[in-house]
Order: sequence, then structure tokens, then C-alpha cells
Amino acid sequence: MTTAVLRVERLCKSFGGVHAIRDLTFEVQPGEVMGLIGPNGSGKSTTVNSLAGLFPVTSGEILLAGAHIQHLPEPERVELGLARTFQTASVFPEFTVRQQITLGCEPTLKSPPLSSIFGIGRHQGEVEAIEARVQDLLEVTGLAAVADDAVGTISSAQQRFLMIATALASEPKIVLLDEPAAGLVSHERKTLSELIKSIRDRGIAVLVIEHHMALIMEVCDRIVVLNFGSKIADGTPAEIRSSQAVIDAYLGE
Ligand code: ADP
Ligand code: MG
Repeated sequence: MTTAVLRVERLCKSFGGVHAIRDLTFEVQPGEVMGLIGPNGSGKSTTVNSLAGLFPVTSGEILLAGAHIQHLPEPERVELGLARTFQTASVFPEFTVRQQITLGCEPTLKSPPLSSIFGIGRHQGEVEAIEARVQDLLEVTGLAAVADDAVGTISSAQQRFLMIATALASEPKIVLLDEPAAGLVSHERKTLSELIKSIRDRGIAVLVIEHHMALIMEVCDRIVVLNFGSKIADGTPAEIRSSQAVIDAYLGE
């Protein structure tokens, strides 16, 4: 049996009296695309934020490739191979797309922080490898044509793909995507689903939260459904589509 890339065991997270996640258990296998769906307020973002280490969980365990990570700060989780996309595209909108993705490589470098951008104290051998990795990510995310444009000037759809490219730059074992299709039009959603499949084809697992059901049903190998912070179903897209509990709680809305 292979070790799950991510294992969440009896996870609970409360905000004061609000039980945002209750006793949540699931696994993501290497190279699997797992969807996390459910009504608004069902605990999807809280799950992703708990996994990423944005705040301490109330109880339960999180294992990344078999290692407990629930006590580690966010940057250490990234170094171990858990990446996520952020809502804001960049802290420096004047950076170019290429520089932004290069910054995303930092967690994997031996050189000092920001050396990848400013060129101070870089290990020479790393420079070419990083440039090649960034070029590959520019191409896989369809951003090569705007590689040298400032992040603040590209379209909002391109900014979303940039967030994914930046997350992939840390060479993760799993990437967490919170509503990546929000604000995208039909042909951009098509590009997104192709991108998610190509991430999977590279052997990287994907956990995706999304309201756009056609996209979820198309890209996911497996889907976990939350309702009021609890898991109510876990199965293939076909199983989820025909689950009466899921139809009652969510799909029948
Ligand atoms: P979803 O992403 O599925 O829409 P969330 O995880 O954002 O749901 O929210 C789950 C529940 O937790 C909601 O009742 C929400 O109001 C509450 N919640 C989320 N984040 C916080 C927070 N930082 N402080 C207090 N309550 C929160
Ligand atoms: Mg949310």
C-alpha cells in the first residue's frame, strides 16, 4: 500500500463557539485530484487554511507523506511539499511574472532569501536550474507571452494562473487550490481544467475547492463533500452525483 500524500485524521476546528470542521477524516493519494465541495460555510476554506497552517487546529492530525505537520508553521509545511494558492497575486505588483514565479522557488533553494531575484549570494549551480524550472512553469500555465510584464498589469485570469505557477514553483507533493475558477469565463475554465490535469500528470496531487460543478466533475478522481463542517460523502464523481445525501445537502440547491 502506498503512503497517502496527505492524511487528515479526526480534524476539528472551532472559532469560539462555531464548529467550522467536525471530526474530518480523508486521504489524498499521490498524483490524485481530490475535490472538496459543499454549501457556503460548510468548512472548505477552513480545511485548506488548517492544512496550510494559517492557524492552529483545535484537535486532530495532519500527515504529509506520513509525517505529522499539524504543529509546524506555514513555511515549513511549504518546504516539506504542501503548497497553496493565495487570494492576492503578489506583494510586489511591479515585479514581473517571471520574477514572481522565481520567488516561489525560494523554499527549495539553498541560497539566502531573495537571492533568486537580486542575485546576491546565489549558488551558481542553482541559477540555471531555477531559470529552467521557471520557464517550464511559464509554459505549462500559458504565461510565457507575459513573462516580462509587471504582475499588476496582467489580466485577472492570468493572475490566477500565476498563483498556481507560483505554488508549483516550490516543487510540492500536493497543491491546494481554493476556488481557482472564481471569476473565470468558459474558455479560461477549460484552460484551468487542462492545467489541473497536467499537474496531476506530473505526479503532483491536487486538492481543489470549487463551486463550478462541471469543472469538479471533469477533473476530480475523487470528491469529498462537507456539510456543516462534517463529511457527508466521499467517492468518485459518478458516486457523488447520485448520492441522495449530497443531492439533499448541496447539488439539489
Ligand atoms: P466555506 O469555505 O465552505 O464557505 P468556511 O470554512 O469559510 O466555509 O467557514 C466555515 C464556518 O466557519 C462558517 O460558519 C464561518 O463563518 C466560520 N469561520 C470561518 N473562518 C472564521 C474565522 N476566521 N473566524 C470566525 N469564524 C470563521
Ligand atoms: Mg470558502
